[in-house]
Amino acid sequence: MNRRSTSLALVLALLFTTACGSGGGGDFNLISIEEEWQLGAQLSQEIARQVRFNNDPTLNAYIRNMGQRIVQQGPAPFNQLPWQFHVVQDDAINAFAIPGGHVYVHTGLIKNADNAAELAGVIAHEISHVTARHSTEQLSRQYGLSIIASLVLGQNPGQLAQIAAQIAAGGAMARFSREAEEEADELGIQAMAAAGYNPAGMATMFEELLEHRQGQPGRVEQFFSTHPLTEDRMRRAQQRATQIGTRGVLNEPGFEDAQRRA
Ligand code: ZN
Repeated sequence: MNRRSTSLALVLALLFTTACGSGGGGDFNLISIEEEWQLGAQLSQEIARQVRFNNDPTLNAYIRNMGQRIVQQGPAPFNQLPWQFHVVQDDAINAFAIPGGHVYVHTGLIKNADNAAELAGVIAHEISHVTARHSTEQLSRQYGLSIIASLVLGQNPGQLAQIAAQIAAGGAMARFSREAEEEADELGIQAMAAAGYNPAGMATMFEELLEHRQGQPGRVEQFFSTHPLTEDRMRRAQQRATQIGTRGVLNEPGFEDAQRRA
């Protein structure tokens, strides 16, 4: 065996181990967390060619800081890994996360949030899709073992570009299931509250998203097409916020300045 096929065999062995090891809850993952971070680095480079970033350093620092605080309250080992938060210059009220800890926040979301807690609620939800491994489940189901192995090894640039284009256009590879949405809401609301934000922000942001669906459906279309949001989910977020309590802040210094820069 030459060196390249030896390493492919090794990756395949690792992938099989990971697949067999992830049992319960209907999880289906063909990719380890380490491989996920490698893949995320490649995917994010492709996505960077396809979206326009807002490079305002103060705004980026504000979003990075908010995101890191939420990540640190999330589960291990994700709270020890490097995450990157990107601000996308786009009026759509949207945010998305890709495998490997890259979170994209649109300026439309930043401008339309009424307070920092509302913004934190959506960012916490996106982070939780990664920490609950929903994004890699989607990838595993959609592409299967051999394509994923070639992507991780950097041997399939055409497919990588295609996946990145799909994500850049729609915010995810596919629509998340209702169960995945509920899990991301629950993990997200816990993490945002632990990071010091009032969990009511998640519920009021959902309310506003639902209102926008009536008034300006085009601006929330991407978010709704990948994150099915119902009145039920909004009510559940309200209930959870009441149970968790409202010790956290709704607003914080820097939020309004960040909005002006978005
Ligand atoms: Zn979601």
